[in-house]
Amino acid sequence: MNYVQLEKLGEGTYATVYKGRSRTTNEIVALKEIHLDAEEGTPSTAIREISLMKELKHVNIVRLYDVIHTETKLVLIFEYCERDLKKYMDVHGERGALDPVTVRSFMYQLLKGTAFCHENRVLHRDLKPQNLLINRKGELKLGDFGLARAFGVPVNTFSNEVVTLWYRAPDVLMGSRTYSTSIDVWSCGCIFAEMISGVPLFRGRDNQDQLLHIMRIIGTPDDRVLRKIATEGQTEGQAQKQYPRYPKIPFSQVLPKASPHALDLLERLLQFDPSKRISAAEALTHPYFSTSQPIYTQPTPFTPAVIAPAYQYQQGQGQAQGQFQYGQQEAARAAAAQAQLALAQPQIPGAGYGMQYPQQQYQTGAR
Ligand code: AMP
Repeated sequence: MNYVQLEKLGEGTYATVYKGRSRTTNEIVALKEIHLDAEEGTPSTAIREISLMKELKHVNIVRLYDVIHTETKLVLIFEYCERDLKKYMDVHGERGALDPVTVRSFMYQLLKGTAFCHENRVLHRDLKPQNLLINRKGELKLGDFGLARAFGVPVNTFSNEVVTLWYRAPDVLMGSRTYSTSIDVWSCGCIFAEMISGVPLFRGRDNQDQLLHIMRIIGTPDDRVLRKIATEGQTEGQAQKQYPRYPKIPFSQVLPKASPHALDLLERLLQFDPSKRISAAEALTHPYFSTSQPIYTQPTPFTPAVIAPAYQYQQGQGQAQGQFQYGQQEAARAAAAQAQLALAQPQIPGAGYGMQYPQQQYQTGAR
């Protein structure tokens, strides 16, 4: 192999991931080793799917450089990224919660990558913070796109951990097999809420429990919707199943720190009925991302120009609704967050988005 295998980076749903170095260019890469069933080998559909992934080139999708196929394993050579979103939230978040500017930037990049894949008729089916990778430029990239279609979504990860259901759409939980792009949009909504609050929004133990967690927050849909979804999944039993009738809890109560625009976008992403869910492409045009929101730059000792969190600008309106009660402590935290966010290349047209890790991170934090 043209790559030297270095330390293990993690266990994924399908494979073990190692850091690697190219013998020819010295470039650091991620080597994803998928062990093959000795008898079955690689399903030809998987090979076809993976070949398609090589063509999926976008700044917000982890680049698949190469595929090495031997008798016993399949090694996918990916672009290397420093950490996944889960670890990023653990390290940079305030008890996991990210500051509003970072949430907005990551959310934009998440939707951009998702929309690109959907345009190219590729579904992810297993979007979660562990599958989103962040590089040192602050670019968020979707990992494992297409793998779920190549191999199916298994119940266990490679290390036999149970695959999390927390980001799974209610229609999928109800047995729907008419997988459409809306299932990824649901996961984007769950990830959005988690970046804002620092904790996963719906934490169920199994399929049914997950469904109940969802209903307890967004409310039990009416029987017509339940029946429609169950019919699509050809799981009539699910339609007859009686669910407790939970009322909807407004997202403003669940996420009191979120801005009205953020709450509105979240509402559109987390629609129980998949046909009512906004598409990733539409979500990108939502006012939450609009550049008309005042953005000012302010010099700091670290960088010539930084972006302040959006919450601070809307004091009049927000405080009237009791939503932006930014105290001194929060303001100090926001200022600290600002110091970390340097104006790199614009990622939101005209908004001057993008970020960099502070300099020390390269020396101490980078793997
Ligand atoms: P995955 O199979 O994508 O869930 O990978 C399992 C873990 O390996 C992730 O949570 C990451 O920590 C790590 N990992 C996966 N892909 C990469 C990559 N391209 N660069 C760096 N680390 C990665």
